[in-house]
Amino acid sequence: MSFEDTLLRLRLIARKNGKYVMNKLFNDYLTGHFNKEVNTSCLLCGSESNLTKEHVLPKWVFENDSKRTFTTDVNQLPQKYIGTTLPMCATCNSEILNTLEKYIQKTLVEVDLKTKYYSSENWGNIIRWLETIDFKFQLIDITTKFRAHKEAGYIPFLAGLSISEMRDFSIRTIKSKSRLSLKRISTKDKSKMANSLIVGTTKIKTFNYFHKSGQFIHIEIPKYNKVFFYFFDREFKNDENAKKEAMKIIKSVYEEE
Ligand SMILES: [Zn+2]
Repeated sequence: MSFEDTLLRLRLIARKNGKYVMNKLFNDYLTGHFNKEVNTSCLLCGSESNLTKEHVLPKWVFENDSKRTFTTDVNQLPQKYIGTTLPMCATCNSEILNTLEKYIQKTLVEVDLKTKYYSSENWGNIIRWLETIDFKFQLIDITTKFRAHKEAGYIPFLAGLSISEMRDFSIRTIKSKSRLSLKRISTKDKSKMANSLIVGTTKIKTFNYFHKSGQFIHIEIPKYNKVFFYFFDREFKNDENAKKEAMKIIKSVYEEE
């Protein structure tokens, strides 16, 4: 399969299978079959055969560091990147997402920002790659939420939730968010979003990552001396405006720590 065919396949899966898988996930949750579904089919295409574990953040990004953790806004409990995987079939994991990752790694090696810049094709594919990470983290958020509520023994629509829980948990909101995320992956042309991606060089020694699902993502990868910031849902007239906005967010995150 050529790289173009792989991308086409990814877009088709996001457009066709993705919607079906998401609907099934939500229905199964509401009817109490949730855990079964999550463990027995690919969360991208829905296939039930050749299931593998897809890392939500690729291992080469977090340097295979078994100690590095992140927290989701769902339960604030630290979770290890290494143990954070989603069930995906071998085709989606190795053939599609891994092919895209290999392309990204190759681009990161080949393009030294001092002498050369990314082609619009490179640029669009970096965006698409970040979109797939966003979608995977959304799936983690959704499944963590579902598990938390299942373990607590009630279905949010039927039982009394505290106001703070309600704020974070509306099926309609997370459903439309995940649909938007899939729609982005299924869109071929990324030129409208070109200014929303900021790429720079970094001298940081260990990888760094933060992310607000459906809004923005920040990844610093020391191995390639690169830093990426991307706004999933905002278009900018020029990259200066995007940079300014990104700097504000980065500053506020570092001040919090
Ligand atoms: Zn699949």
